[in-house]
Amino acid sequence: MRKRILAVLLCVITCLSMTSCALFGGEHDSHKFRARWESNAGFHWHECKFADCKEKGSYELHTYENGKCTKCKYKQQTLSEHK
Ligand SMILES: [Zn+2]
Ligand SMILES: [Zn+2]
Repeated sequence: MRKRILAVLLCVITCLSMTSCALFGGEHDSHKFRARWESNAGFHWHECKFADCKEKGSYELHTYENGKCTKCKYKQQTLSEHK
């Protein structure tokens, strides 16, 4: 009888730890991207909300218009001129 209860307990604990794992990053079926744009000199993207997820959403080149990106507002960097 004792052993059976232990087995059930183990099962419950395993299930619980797997669920919390899913909540705190690691494996997730679909990424949840932040609304905020991240950007570097060439690209912009959305970060995934899950911790330690390196997935980049909508990762693409800036689309400049009048020296500013139309999506993330990144300012176009003017290359140093050699005149
Ligand atoms: Zn993700
Ligand atoms: Zn951009």
